[in-house]
Amino acid sequence: MFEYLIVGCGLSGVTCARLLAEKGKRVLIVDRRSHIGGNVFDSYNEHGILIHNYGPHIFHTNYKEVWDFLSRFTEWIYYQHRVLAFVNGKTVPMPINIDTVNMLYGTGYDSHTIGSFFARVGDSGREVANAEDMVISKVGHELYELFFRGYTIKQWDLEPKDLDKEVTARIPVRHNRDDRYFSDRYQGIPAQGYTKMAAKMLAHSNISILLNTDFKDIQDEINYSEMIFSGPIDYYFNYKYGRLPYRSLRFEFTTHNMEYYQPVGTVNYPNDYDFTRITEFKHFTSQKSDKTTIVKEYATSEGEPYYPIPKKENRELYQLYRQEAEKLENVRCIGRLGQYKYANMDIVVKDAMDLVMGGDVS
Ligand code: FAD
Ligand code: UDP
Repeated sequence: MFEYLIVGCGLSGVTCARLLAEKGKRVLIVDRRSHIGGNVFDSYNEHGILIHNYGPHIFHTNYKEVWDFLSRFTEWIYYQHRVLAFVNGKTVPMPINIDTVNMLYGTGYDSHTIGSFFARVGDSGREVANAEDMVISKVGHELYELFFRGYTIKQWDLEPKDLDKEVTARIPVRHNRDDRYFSDRYQGIPAQGYTKMAAKMLAHSNISILLNTDFKDIQDEINYSEMIFSGPIDYYFNYKYGRLPYRSLRFEFTTHNMEYYQPVGTVNYPNDYDFTRITEFKHFTSQKSDKTTIVKEYATSEGEPYYPIPKKENRELYQLYRQEAEKLENVRCIGRLGQYKYANMDIVVKDAMDLVMGGDVS
């Protein structure tokens, strides 16, 4: 007899499992995949390099409680992510900052004068209704075309004007020389990897784990009181209102006989090639090896559901499922797939902490 059946061994499910187990609840956590960790799963490849099997994951948060909670299960490499964008044949800092502008235009702006540049090129009076407006209002048409339009079309197969403004709002515009991708207070990579961290979170006598199992195959055979579901909400309801669209990715990993392949963790390619970005894992870990592994990401419409697609019609369809879910007294839908939400790791952990510690589940 389990008090909780948790569907999904990603960070949402694992966080709930741990916190419920510590409250004395007996938990069964299931995943249809063959491993724990969900999309943060990492592993050593045949060359001994630690890779992120579902694409690059850098932990960053301003929530101290989330950082402190995860820090119970891992030490951190204090990695700060840096990204360059390849535009017009040059690699320049991304997010756009003073140096990006100076390198592109051969100008000499500093922190006192860059404001006048953005004021001139940006369209600050523009009403910001979508992901295109969000960028143009801050940096104007030319930088929008160079850095955002092509990347967004590759990633989403949509024009930025057809996506919610939150998509491009993730990327700031900097009036300084900070060249980090994120500016959150707490940033890092788990010292032994995400999978080890998840394994420690699940190492509790009240937690049982079942892998390679779709919850629908065991749901009726297991005795449980409540379910926490972090799989796709439309799947839970057998797509009764139709399928929620997701964007997927194809990852192409290659290993090279060189110490480093590129100067920073990630290089974005907004306009060249078919992939969106190349990430080199050794930058995250500073692992010593005379080989290095990179991953190229190609966005696709078919495959594992990685990204909910943030646009109005999809939000409306999700609301239909959400209303159904709210009618169920003993089921809670959480996480990136359960709430159809373009959420980073820290948000799914915070939501799970709030659910269990906020008393919303008994
Ligand atoms: P998931 O990790 O997707 O876990 C859900 C689990 O449910 C999966 O393991 C799935 O197999 C299982 N499942 C689904 N259906 C069923 C079923 N029917 N029965 C049983 N099990 C089922 N966030 C950051 O903060 N920083 C980053 O740098 C970052 N980079 C990212 C890069 C990529 C390419 C992607 C796709 C995401 C990135 N994220 C990043 C977001 C991060 O991956 C998510 O926030 C987080 O992993 C979501 O956790 P989750 O538990 O909600 O979902
Ligand atoms: N984006 C862009 N150019 C870039 C980086 C990001 O146009 O060089 C846009 C694009 O629409 C992308 C979104 O901003 O999907 C969010 O970028 P982020 O790096 O946060 O994407 P994720 O890591 O979630 O794939």
